[in-house]
Amino acid sequence: MLIMSAERKKIITLQDFVDFITEKNIKCVMCNAKLPKVVHFYPHKDGLIDLESNKRVWAYIVCDKCGYQNSFVKLLNKIRW
Ligand SMILES: [Zn+2]
Repeated sequence: MLIMSAERKKIITLQDFVDFITEKNIKCVMCNAKLPKVVHFYPHKDGLIDLESNKRVWAYIVCDKCGYQNSFVKLLNKIRW
C-alpha cells in the first residue's frame, strides 16, 4: 500500500511507515507504551490517500496497553514526514 498525505505533499509506503515507527521508537501518544506493528484502516474523507485505490482512508495503530487509537496523522506529525 502506498499512501500520501492529505495535502498531497509526501508519499510513503505503509511498510516504510511501520518500519520508521519501530526504528524511531515512536510511542503511544496517550500512555507512551510501545506500539504494535499493526495498522487499521477505515474510509474517511479527511484521511490519507491510498494511491492504489485512490480512496481516502483513516489509518491508526491501536495501543496494546491503553487501547487508544493512535492516528497516522498524529504519529506522522511526530516524525515530521
Ligand atoms: Zn497507550
